[in-house]
Amino acid sequence: MSSGVESTLRGPNAYGLARKVLEDMERRQIWPTALNYELWLHFMANPDGDLAQEIERLLQAGETITEGLSEQLAAAYLPKARLNEQIRDAGDQLNKELAAVAQAIKQAQRSSEQYGQTLAGAGRTLAEDAEPAVLKRLIDTLTTATKRVQRENKALEKRLDESTAEVGRLREHLEQVRRDATTDALTNLANRKAFDDELGRACAEATDKSEPLTLAVIDIDHFKRFNDTWGHQTGDQVIRYVSSVIGRMAPPPRFAARYGGEEFAMIFPGERVAEVFHTLEEIRLEVSSRTLKRRSTNEDLGTITVSAGLAQFKFGERMEALIERADEALYTSKRGGRNMVTTAGEPAAAAA
Ligand code: GH3
Ligand code: MG
Ligand code: MG
Repeated sequence: MSSGVESTLRGPNAYGLARKVLEDMERRQIWPTALNYELWLHFMANPDGDLAQEIERLLQAGETITEGLSEQLAAAYLPKARLNEQIRDAGDQLNKELAAVAQAIKQAQRSSEQYGQTLAGAGRTLAEDAEPAVLKRLIDTLTTATKRVQRENKALEKRLDESTAEVGRLREHLEQVRRDATTDALTNLANRKAFDDELGRACAEATDKSEPLTLAVIDIDHFKRFNDTWGHQTGDQVIRYVSSVIGRMAPPPRFAARYGGEEFAMIFPGERVAEVFHTLEEIRLEVSSRTLKRRSTNEDLGTITVSAGLAQFKFGERMEALIERADEALYTSKRGGRNMVTTAGEPAAAAA
């Protein structure tokens, strides 16, 4: 989001914009959820932005903005908008802090220059004249000047201490912003962006060290049916359940991410596909081993199953090609009846 947009969101016309956003949502029959409002606010505040272009494209294609679609748009476009805003806020604060410190240092420089002049003057007086009354005045002047410089040095020291603390707080805040930007809010796993970065890094490292690397993609079976029967909220509960099983099986250097709506991805540095297959089988069996209960009503939700696809990184292969092979293996699992794990380049293993 450009700073122009930010001033629109916070400026004197903010209420006017909010009204326009709601009117536009009503006209287009966009359900007024908090998420949709946020999407629309960014859409209308920044009509040339990536998010606006994507929404225009969807509307023109006659797409209905469903909750699932809103989630996808938010996951793809809002973190960047939110992040940019937060980074700019933190940056502004940092600039203010630095300007105040520079000011304090300049002030200290000025007074130490003055002090230097006072001392030089005293030196000259001493060289010329040493009458007791003059000496007494000189000593008074020097004492006063010295006290002032001491006072100012103390003030500067205090200012620098405060500033160090403030910069520390800002650094923590930026760290938090960075964490938020790479974490999926629903599951606390890494998000898609963090996954892309990590896979690129891990592939480069595997190539450098000539070590194996395996990628797994995991998708919840018949999730749409589940959502339709029990509603979105219970759907979210299921996504969280599956993500907790996956997260437990991904201690570092393994890496787990929510890749999309009900899709997950795992990176296994240093592990061959045959080893990873067993881990994925464990995940698959554990997910289906429990019967979930709907939190709000305690109704039985039945068994949740997942399908997975695995591919081992080929040295020199592009990251996208690796993802594609894992995805193809996942589709083989789906076609083969779901609740199974398939390795790229091999026929589907039989479901248990
Ligand atoms: P398959 O076994 O072939 O994977 O079938 P499926 O129904 O799981 O697959 P599909 O991709 O057709 O459906 C996924 C659905 O997940 C569509 C979307 O509405 C829903 N969804 C996406 N993100 C979320 C989310 O964050 N929460 C909830 N509750 N549902 C979501
Ligand atoms: Mg899916
Ligand atoms: Mg699915």
